[in-house]
Amino acid sequence: MTVFRGTDRIRRATAVVKNRLRQVRSISLKGITIVRKKLLPKWSAWIRNYRSSIAITAVAAVGVVAVAIVGQQYVQAHMKDYYRVYVNGALVGEISSSAKVEQWMSAKAVALSRANTPVLQELDENQVEYLPERAYKWEPDDENTLAALADQVKTHPIGVEIKVDGKVVGVVRDRATADRLLDRIRDKYIPEDATLVQVSAKKPAGPLIKTLSFAASSDTAVAAASDEDEAVEPVPGDTLGHVVTSIAFANPVGLSHVTLESAQLSDLDTLYRKLAGESEDEEAKPLLGVQSIEEVTQVELIEAQTEYQNSSDLRKGTTKVARQAKNGSKQVTYKQIKLNGEVLEEEVIAEQVLQEPVDKLVLRGTKVIPGEGTGKFAWPVSGHRITSTMGKRWGTMHNGIDIIGRRNIMAADNGVVEQVVYSRSGLGNHVVINHKNGYKTVYGHMSSIKVKKGQVVEKGESIGIMGSTGHSTGTHLHFEIHLNGKLKNPLNYL
Ligand SMILES: [Zn+2]
Repeated sequence: MTVFRGTDRIRRATAVVKNRLRQVRSISLKGITIVRKKLLPKWSAWIRNYRSSIAITAVAAVGVVAVAIVGQQYVQAHMKDYYRVYVNGALVGEISSSAKVEQWMSAKAVALSRANTPVLQELDENQVEYLPERAYKWEPDDENTLAALADQVKTHPIGVEIKVDGKVVGVVRDRATADRLLDRIRDKYIPEDATLVQVSAKKPAGPLIKTLSFAASSDTAVAAASDEDEAVEPVPGDTLGHVVTSIAFANPVGLSHVTLESAQLSDLDTLYRKLAGESEDEEAKPLLGVQSIEEVTQVELIEAQTEYQNSSDLRKGTTKVARQAKNGSKQVTYKQIKLNGEVLEEEVIAEQVLQEPVDKLVLRGTKVIPGEGTGKFAWPVSGHRITSTMGKRWGTMHNGIDIIGRRNIMAADNGVVEQVVYSRSGLGNHVVINHKNGYKTVYGHMSSIKVKKGQVVEKGESIGIMGSTGHSTGTHLHFEIHLNGKLKNPLNYL
């Protein structure tokens, strides 16, 4: 037994030396570090403890060594590697395999990340160390060690910090929460009638890249476009298409994992309002700008113009609408750059006429009517029949002739209206035209008069309607011709 004990000592020492010489890699796996810093003091201590006894038993050692050589093979066959596990410098136990610690730590890390707690926890870094050991017939109690490890490991609260323009604006529970918050802000600016066709390449900066990717709903747009059962003609004001080709944050947005000092997360609604500019302070601008590029296709009015054309058929100073106006329509596509829903820039990228407008056509009269008569008179009534001639009649003088026929009364020659008289006696409502050549004509008993004093009239132009006003027994026209102030018989001129 003594021999074995001595041999055991030597074997232990050998093992220590071997371990000392072995190149032990320092592995850093989330929270685990293999170190060998404890080996050196241990080795020095062994030399101090055993140097003298080796010297004293030098002779005996020869025999011991001989036996040892024999026992070496047996011992060698029963040597076991294991590890001492330390948490934050304190020994928690021994374990047969470092992989067991690593597996446990990995499982713990995963469990923590999936925990349904208001604040997520993460394992402290580099808190677990294990020290390789080798011993004869040694079975570490793995289960107990892992239980002790579970008891001892420390965690700390974590969160995801949101930075806008390099400034921290808030901390949320995790990446998914941050993504949902940012999506909510961005989606606020996607117009209801718009289709998103492309996703911006501009992504928040930082160790975690937020990907602004979501399925473009172009399928519904295609479906809507092909639904041509109801071919409704587009009218001005209609929006034919609205497409968001790109939408991205105008400010650099960074997301990063942080360790929380106080386990305090931002209130999500408050953070949303701050970022989206919806706080109670209406003056507050949104911290986060959302820039979108949109294409809007609209139907717009093409207003009909008015075209003027001279007409020698119309009297100068008069106009006539020869063609009514009809507005047209066009389809215009605008490219808009918007910031937080407001158009910053707009550019027409396509235009197509749907309906050509019809311009209004206005004829402008150029015909100048001479105020001077031709000296040749025309019948003032068409389909005329004379009912009374000029001369003495019932004891008085009849100054003109009485005519019946169509009711329209026309100027007998070119001239200027000299008098328009409305009366219930004598000639009743009547007109006197001065033909500026010594002649004047008189038209009596009219029911209505179309001309005004001073108006230039053309031979044959309507001046009023036949009637029976004044001293009259029935509807007719009383017509007189005067030359240089003297009454003439119209029948000599007509
Ligand atoms: Zn008469």
